[in-house]
Amino acid sequence: MSKKILVTGGAGFLGSHLCDRLLAQGHHVICVDNFFSGAQRNLAHLAKEPRFTLLRHDVVLPFAAEVDEIYNLAAPASPVHYQFNPIETTKTCVIGAINMLDLALQRNIKVLQASTSEVYGDPEQHPQPESYWGRVNPIGLRACYDEGKRCAEALFFDYHRQHQVPIKVARIFNTYGPRMLPDDGRVVPNLILQALKGEDITLYGDGLQTRSFCYVDDLIEGLVQLMASGSDIIGPINLGNPDEVTIRQLAGLIIDITGSNSKFTHEPLPTDDPRQRQPDIAQARQQLDWAPTVPLREGLIKTVAYFEKHLAGTFVAHSG
Ligand code: NAD
Ligand code: UDP
Repeated sequence: MSKKILVTGGAGFLGSHLCDRLLAQGHHVICVDNFFSGAQRNLAHLAKEPRFTLLRHDVVLPFAAEVDEIYNLAAPASPVHYQFNPIETTKTCVIGAINMLDLALQRNIKVLQASTSEVYGDPEQHPQPESYWGRVNPIGLRACYDEGKRCAEALFFDYHRQHQVPIKVARIFNTYGPRMLPDDGRVVPNLILQALKGEDITLYGDGLQTRSFCYVDDLIEGLVQLMASGSDIIGPINLGNPDEVTIRQLAGLIIDITGSNSKFTHEPLPTDDPRQRQPDIAQARQQLDWAPTVPLREGLIKTVAYFEKHLAGTFVAHSG
């Protein structure tokens, strides 16, 4: 059955792929975005799609619409972007969550929160299962995002306990793919563009810190399956690819794929940068029958092709 679905942050990297996916399923999609870290061009191909509506709106302000489901993705995800105006980041995470939960409560509809592996901070437990409470610096440079997302999770569970709002909380681990902004600042676009331009590859610290990278198509599939799951499945549930690599290994793979002559250069490790990160996805496998299918090399080849195609263009991060 065709639904009207609200996607906040729909002009961003993940949000734009989610809008495509929901439209392909035959739904109507309303996307709200303030274009802080998203781009109109991510949705340009939908300009003539009659089932798609794009609204410029800041989720910090209340929002009402006759919708049947909400995916709450609005929040800058790159450390560079979320630290640019940390107070706004906290407001987006917390007040944005309250506004979407109030709308879900009013209409008695499902609301899915795009939470993050950052709730685990710099973890002592490895890999990270959902039962791990995390190790976050509450007053550091990443706190606006980490604590904002932790507070949003708390709100989701309080609305569920207090008002029986049907919630779904996904803890998303590092995801990459086409439509990340060239100046996004996250490691995949940074390193791919450096390799393509023959510039030095910036490894922060010794490059031995690890991440586990999930290709965007796999992640979107996980979000859609979580939303479609029964009312007993509310999360939090890890979504990510458990294939863990060091940043140095990632850089080597990108050099190999691009055939670049770029050399490695070391820059200081950002404050509170987690040393290691790998999702335990046993719950997603069990409850959603979901697991990622795209190997890192394959996903990187597609992402490199995207940035090659767009390298000549003019990109602006805050296009709004
Ligand atoms: P992104 O920065 O590309 O997209 C976020 C979108 O939200 C942008 O279009 C931005 O303009 C919009 N936005 C920001 N503040 C807003 C506000 N106040 N009102 C309306 N719109 C606003 O990031 P992304 O990678 O697509 O991430 C999407 C969501 O998934 C975020 O909530 C992020 O925390 C979560 N997440 C992503 C990853 C990842 O690896 N991509 C990992 C963990 C969690
Ligand atoms: N990183 C790096 N070089 C870059 C950008 C990032 O070495 O040009 C490192 C960063 O220090 C971190 C990892 O890559 O250890 C992932 O960073 P990203 O900003 O993509 O996401 P995070 O998982 O830290 O939120």
